[in-house]
Amino acid sequence: MAKSTDGFFDRYGGKYVAEVLRRPLDELEEAFATYMSDKDFLQELDIIRRDYIGRETPLYYAPTATKLLGGAQIYIKMEGLANTGAHKINNAIGQCLLAKKMGKTRIIAETGAGQHGLATAAACAKLGLECTVYMGEIDVRRQQPNVAAMELYGAKVCAVTSGSRTLKDAVNEAMRDWAAHFDTTHYVLGSALGPAPFPDIVREFQSVIGKEVQQQCKDRGIQIGAMVACVGGGSNSIGFFSPFIDAPSPRLIGAEAGGIGPGVGENASRMTGNASREGIVQGYKSRFLIDEDGQSLPTRSISAGLDYMGIGPQLAALGASGRVEFTAIRDQEALEAVSFFAKHEGILFALESAHAGAAAMKIAREIPKDQAIIINMSGRGDKDVFITSPVFRPAKWLEFLHSEIERLESSKDIHDAKIMGENECLTK
Ligand SMILES: *Cc1c(COP(=O)(O)O)cnc(C)c1O
Repeated sequence: MAKSTDGFFDRYGGKYVAEVLRRPLDELEEAFATYMSDKDFLQELDIIRRDYIGRETPLYYAPTATKLLGGAQIYIKMEGLANTGAHKINNAIGQCLLAKKMGKTRIIAETGAGQHGLATAAACAKLGLECTVYMGEIDVRRQQPNVAAMELYGAKVCAVTSGSRTLKDAVNEAMRDWAAHFDTTHYVLGSALGPAPFPDIVREFQSVIGKEVQQQCKDRGIQIGAMVACVGGGSNSIGFFSPFIDAPSPRLIGAEAGGIGPGVGENASRMTGNASREGIVQGYKSRFLIDEDGQSLPTRSISAGLDYMGIGPQLAALGASGRVEFTAIRDQEALEAVSFFAKHEGILFALESAHAGAAAMKIAREIPKDQAIIINMSGRGDKDVFITSPVFRPAKWLEFLHSEIERLESSKDIHDAKIMGENECLTK
């Protein structure tokens, strides 16, 4: 099941959309098929991957972690070294280049925590495309560092004020915009989910991670026992697993957000939790954290990238068939993994990726010593300083924030600044 059949992965997937979205989806599917077998397109993409993203990313052997964990050889795929700090740029660049070939001049995207918006804004700046990012008003307020970066890249950030004013409302707004403007506009969806053909497209652009790992292991004679990745919507994991899915080994393990516990609203465990249901939401069939009426349930995770209520359809199917195992990692365990790899290997994991790190720490002794566990470090942790510092050193951090506020309030520049940035916009 390395790709979909008519948009389905067994019982999951599909294209459950309003009539107005059929045309842009069909057009996209056709263009994707054409360009993925076009030599010039693939060569251009390769050069951008090498010179702009910084591929290939290293496969790092972690000697101290291996010794301390006392089992398998621990390796880390350093996706976090990609330009913009995470794997999301692989998909953003791929889709933006495709859109450009299709003659589109404008890009829209949805974003929750802002990581996908940031990657898309950067890709648009690099490729000379106009960019609008829809983001729930609440997310805009709490994710200012990413909003600031998107504006620096020249994107317009639209605060969505409908519904719960978070990610799912941003998705709805992006879909509406796309339906109205698809002649000029491409919608860059951020994870391996949504209506077909997006799950296939996003997996293909992220499969560069897994293909590199396969080659790197072959070149160095590494025998893989298990591969571990964190799972939000599922793009880094499915790209990382993709070349290995049709074989019976290695073990493929997805780490979901276990949050603060197993109760409803305490986690985002779509595959391991008991609040999860099958449903059709935002254009595709999969497993979701929804109630019996199909209304979304609240989710929770310390990592902003893992708290989406749904999971990509291919992963849902691979979970059902047993090819991919899932495990829930609690906030506390992810924080411990951040400390562990920072201290012993000098590598700062993003909180999302630290869920994969924590899962590897748990299973290291289940894998023989002559085999490897490969952890996909989907992102680096610099972006998390506002979340990790209040946990690791709360008093000092609070003192720092107070002093920053004082410094800014007494600064003349702030009082002279315009209230609204020139790129800001609001939607209802
Ligand atoms: C967004 C994000 C994720 C989760 O998204 P997937 O689509 O599941 O990969 C994981 N890690 C990082 C660093 C992210 O920014």
